[in-house]
Amino acid sequence: MKAAVFREMGIPMEIENISISKPIGREVLVRMEAVGVCHSDLHILTGDLPLPLPAVLGHEAAGIVEQVGADVHTVKPGDHVVVCLTFHCGRCEQCYGGNSHRCNTDEAMRGQTEPPRLFRGGEAFEPFMKMGAFAEQILVHESGCVVMRRDMPFDRACLIGCGVTTGLGAAIRAAGIRPGETVAVIGCGGVGLSAVNGAVLAGAGQIIAIDRIASKLELAQTFGATNTIDSSAGHAVEHVMALTGGRGVDHVIEAIGLKQTIEDGFAMLAKGGLETIVGAARYDAKIELPALAFLREKRVQGSMMGGVRNGIDIPRYIDLYMDGRLKLDEMISRHRPLEQLNAAFDDMRAGTLARSVIVFGE
Ligand SMILES: [Zn+2]
Ligand SMILES: [Zn+2]
Repeated sequence: MKAAVFREMGIPMEIENISISKPIGREVLVRMEAVGVCHSDLHILTGDLPLPLPAVLGHEAAGIVEQVGADVHTVKPGDHVVVCLTFHCGRCEQCYGGNSHRCNTDEAMRGQTEPPRLFRGGEAFEPFMKMGAFAEQILVHESGCVVMRRDMPFDRACLIGCGVTTGLGAAIRAAGIRPGETVAVIGCGGVGLSAVNGAVLAGAGQIIAIDRIASKLELAQTFGATNTIDSSAGHAVEHVMALTGGRGVDHVIEAIGLKQTIEDGFAMLAKGGLETIVGAARYDAKIELPALAFLREKRVQGSMMGGVRNGIDIPRYIDLYMDGRLKLDEMISRHRPLEQLNAAFDDMRAGTLARSVIVFGE
């Protein structure tokens, strides 16, 4: 099959012909229909997150099940699925506690003694996020596959596999925004826009979108932001204070992952406010916060994958989209074939597009 192989930092990925194993145990072979280009993939390309190489990136995927292992019971060949990177065992403390997104079961990968999922001759390829979706097929653990309704288009569905679920879930699950509360969202890419959408669904009052790019702020307004702040000249905190009468906001959703934006987010909180960090920081990044602010009951928390419970939340998000209440169409800036993957990352580096989607067989 064709796959975009990442061999060395600074060198564009090339499409190579590699082999994919047959499913064993609880593995599922999925033919890719659409794969979103996510910032976490870019973090690998830039070395901000380390990964063994050569690797196949891509982890925001939707496709059709082709083949299943002998122990798979929840999906069957022909099913349309969103593949979500929150693979889980179903029988650990985190899974039993309703936090299956925190499970880091070894089951989602093959053991050292088993043959690699992706290979060519004696060479093995690392599937990023246990998926490796910039390829015609992926071989993944059953627990990441969520069957979706047939009328859901693949290019929209794939976004729910990572970015949308991360932002939407941060707003409605992790932050638990209440009707009328004020919210600031820092960063209006796919994750941030979904957080704005989540704030709308939760009934938030003022929703302030913050970004350095005017086109993204315009998009944030179509997602339901009530105010926008262009932070390209700095001073985002002062602007938020001015917009809230000096009070600050009840919630900040931070969707960039930089020291500066995380610290700014904390500074714009009202007393008792909660900053929820979803932006992926560099692995060695550290933040500094004024300790006295905790006596004003300001809080900060992390959120991973929007606390998603695959089998519950993903079908709900798909229904919300089909009802017109979850905006996905507006988020897709461009379709590209796998051969143009490097160009899609160039778009992302330029920062002007919300989301590129790699589509197969067009
Ligand atoms: Zn992602
Ligand atoms: Zn588990």
